[in-house]
Amino acid sequence: MEIKPSFIELYRTGDLEKKSREAYDLLACCTLCPRNCMINRLQGQLGFCRSGFLPIVSSYNAHHGEEPPISGIRGSGTIFFSHCNLSCCYCQNWPISQLGQGQEVTVERLAGMMMDLQQRGCHNINFVTPSHMTAQILMALEIAVRQGFNLPLVYNTSGYDSLDSLKLLEGVIDIYLPDIRYIDPGAAERYSEARDYPSVNQAALREMWRQVGELQLDDQGIALRGMLVRHLVLPNGLSQTREALKFLAREISPRVHLSLMSQFFPAHRANQTAELGRSLSREEYQQAVEWAEEYGLENGWHQELDDTGGGPPDRIVKAT
Ligand code: SF4
Repeated sequence: MEIKPSFIELYRTGDLEKKSREAYDLLACCTLCPRNCMINRLQGQLGFCRSGFLPIVSSYNAHHGEEPPISGIRGSGTIFFSHCNLSCCYCQNWPISQLGQGQEVTVERLAGMMMDLQQRGCHNINFVTPSHMTAQILMALEIAVRQGFNLPLVYNTSGYDSLDSLKLLEGVIDIYLPDIRYIDPGAAERYSEARDYPSVNQAALREMWRQVGELQLDDQGIALRGMLVRHLVLPNGLSQTREALKFLAREISPRVHLSLMSQFFPAHRANQTAELGRSLSREEYQQAVEWAEEYGLENGWHQELDDTGGGPPDRIVKAT
């Protein structure tokens, strides 16, 4: 099966330019994400995400550690944005997401990175932590398409995305790769400073599913279009895993692809809270796998738990 990225047609009709301009205008009183800071990022004002106009990129590369249909054989062309619109006390990438480590780049340079990764043979471009950079992504895409860019785009997000931004991305993003982190507003407030995360996230997942639906693969098993949801299982039931899986199965679809992640370890400020001060136990992860089965979520992947309790596991195996 071959599907052309849908943004090619948007570019041809001029709709990509319209979307890009509309998103740019939002930066003047920023409502790009659900924080609605309403500050002028075009004049360098900083909101919750501490990002002005220019994107800050911590790294870009061919990445082989994503789920098999995303990494494929030649790697996923990941572009890691610095800063984030969440503030998770256990963030494993906290030097990037919270301290903002990275280099400020122009949108032209961002387009250049996309072209470079395409030339290196990557299967897709994977924007990591993109929610505060949707305008800059649209602007860079326009430039890249003019230069012959034609890979599927992966939107690799915490799932704290506004519906208005997602509507601007309709027809632009081919593969949504969102998290579902919490169902309980209290947990979302305590651990990520986002009490409204559950309602925002559930609306976002519905919208992403409406736009792209079930994951579609080519004859080599590489993702072309669709949605793949990640759920990081936290210790002590803090990610409300059973409820999250129930939501996916009942409110999205039992056909949705799920990546059930066991790699939690107490990074950043997690050690300051007693309940997040340890890795996930084998029993807790096994229980999560059983709940996925109970709700009929048969499409997707789970990780092997590292017996040593050392670093995060790196192998993703097909769920049975
Ligand atoms: S993108 Fe950043 S500045 Fe804009 S609303 Fe979200 S957190 Fe605030």
